[in-house]
Amino acid sequence: MAIHLADYEEVAGRETIEELRVLADKVRGRRLQNINSTPVGGGVAEILTRLLPLLRELGIDATWDVIKGDQAFFNVTKAFHNALHGNKETITAGMLEAYRATTQANLEQMNIRGDVVIVHDPQPAGMVELRRSMGRQWVWRCHIDVSNPDRQVWEFLEPYVNQYDAAIFSMPDFAQQLPIAQYMVAPSIDPLADKNRALSPDFVNEVLARYEVDPERPVVTQISRFDRLKDPLGVIAAYRMVKRRHDCQLVLAGGGASDDPEGELVLREVQEAAAGDRDIHILLLPPFSDLEINALVRGSTVVMQKSIREGFGLTVSEALWKKKPVIGGAVGGIKLQVIHGITGFLVHSAEGAARRLAQLLDDPQLRTELGENGHSHVKQNFLLTRHVKDYILVMLALDHPNEDIIRLS
Ligand code: UDP
Repeated sequence: MAIHLADYEEVAGRETIEELRVLADKVRGRRLQNINSTPVGGGVAEILTRLLPLLRELGIDATWDVIKGDQAFFNVTKAFHNALHGNKETITAGMLEAYRATTQANLEQMNIRGDVVIVHDPQPAGMVELRRSMGRQWVWRCHIDVSNPDRQVWEFLEPYVNQYDAAIFSMPDFAQQLPIAQYMVAPSIDPLADKNRALSPDFVNEVLARYEVDPERPVVTQISRFDRLKDPLGVIAAYRMVKRRHDCQLVLAGGGASDDPEGELVLREVQEAAAGDRDIHILLLPPFSDLEINALVRGSTVVMQKSIREGFGLTVSEALWKKKPVIGGAVGGIKLQVIHGITGFLVHSAEGAARRLAQLLDDPQLRTELGENGHSHVKQNFLLTRHVKDYILVMLALDHPNEDIIRLS
């Protein structure tokens, strides 16, 4: 069933939707072209899938293109991704050349038709080379934590970034010294999507049963691509420390993303670490398992997102929306969502995660309080409707460069 803007009135309020219509009128008919590197898997694809239909309903001609690359290219961009997150990576001249070559191939194939072109993350960042021939507005939308990047990779990307008209970061911590305008836009979740909408308890139980998870015993869950920066091994370590005294189960559920070549390797490491424990459920989910993920989270007692580095971590808001207390690594955008002691707990180690997990498993009242707070926090800050508004505001800001105050009337 198609979802319309009016359907969001109930959760976001009628005034919010009315405001979107008024603002969108100012950019009606504008072509907003998005470019990223994967059609499914990961937060960017998740957001674009939900955002675009609403922008279109508001009269903005929003479209989405995906760059093409081979395994070698995505090995390079994954290394970039890790390095920008501050990990030590060896970047060779050959890797930089592979990035340039794939960028060049995409430059030749991509049809640029946006009045505003939003390029997501480092993988397609080089597409800005087309800006010279097409006098449109180009925005680099960076979803990852670049607050402490590897200098070599940042210096390679910076000349591309500097060609944009503006950059968008998810939080102030990620802002850079750049000669272009910078905007802060936090990501968002869609409360009406299959990933987040209300489900019947029967369906939740049916999904738990399908994956042989016992609904009568506590369930601790982390939903993530199998990626070392999501620290699945740290989650297993924390679970094992707690398991000695709490009869809980652990669900690690995730799928792959076509721009993430490391997934299979990490999955094997996780399977090895979990071997022999029937209460650890490693679930490799196919794309579009949204209802299953929703049910797994709703059927959980505590949700973890123990990332070592994180851009935003949509999974955190997805869990908070379902009134689940979240134990999150104290990194990146998790810090915007998990307010320590209010919506969950921020941790710095497996030991810290284990301590908070034990505390939450012992205290149902605390779980309920944090879960309620988390739901309100997401409702106020991280719903899709806020995101739509921010994108419209960015378009308006681009129309008025160097103006501190923009008059809309
Ligand atoms: N996700 C999914 N299937 C999976 C694993 C993750 O649909 O197997 C979704 C998850 O629910 C969230 C997004 O992918 O909506 C991941 O976004 P996040 O910002 O947490 O992390 P990223 O993968 O972008 O680093």
